[in-house]
Amino acid sequence: MTETASQRLFFALWPGGVQREQLERYRPLLRGCGGRPIRPENLHLTLAFLGNVDEATRKCLEQAADAITLPPFTLKLDQLGFWRRPQVIWLGQEPTPEPLLALSGELKRAMLACGLEPDPRPFRTHLTLQRRAHRTPRSREVPPLEWPVDSFMLVASETRPEGVVYEVVREWRLGVVS
Ligand code: ATP
Ligand code: MG
Repeated sequence: MTETASQRLFFALWPGGVQREQLERYRPLLRGCGGRPIRPENLHLTLAFLGNVDEATRKCLEQAADAITLPPFTLKLDQLGFWRRPQVIWLGQEPTPEPLLALSGELKRAMLACGLEPDPRPFRTHLTLQRRAHRTPRSREVPPLEWPVDSFMLVASETRPEGVVYEVVREWRLGVVS
């Protein structure tokens, strides 16, 4: 009997080449914080973590995402932060800009509509730079990463012996009806 294919999925903002390169500027500010940096090609901003999702649920989520009609916006990520319990250092923006909050809200609604349980905590803008960190970076305010956001992505995550590998499996343009 064939098992229903299930994938570990999440919705994310996936940086383009320019932003990915600019993200490297923040690395030197994290020296002495301990932990391990996220590989450059893996940097992303998670919008909604879905977990292991079967095909029917994925289809449901994709249809719900098709119905999202929000305009493009620009992020100005200008804060470094450290969360002690998950031991991550992130680049973020506080408070979360309204259009990003709206997008994450729509995706939470999509999850509920498709029988998944969204994270009950309020969304906070954070792009993880370093894991298993021990210390807060010395600089909190940093020169902003300006990131014009005109799409969001569905990403598959696969854990391999050499580390996690992400694959963007679908992209939705903002301001365009799919
Ligand atoms: P690894 O788990 O191998 O260290 P990872 O955490 O980057 O790698 P995933 O666990 O597949 O890979 O997670 C994908 C994305 O979703 C990451 O940005 C991760 O921080 C986020 N994420 C994972 N689990 C949760 C969760 N329970 N709640 C919120 N976000 C999560
Ligand atoms: Mg994980």
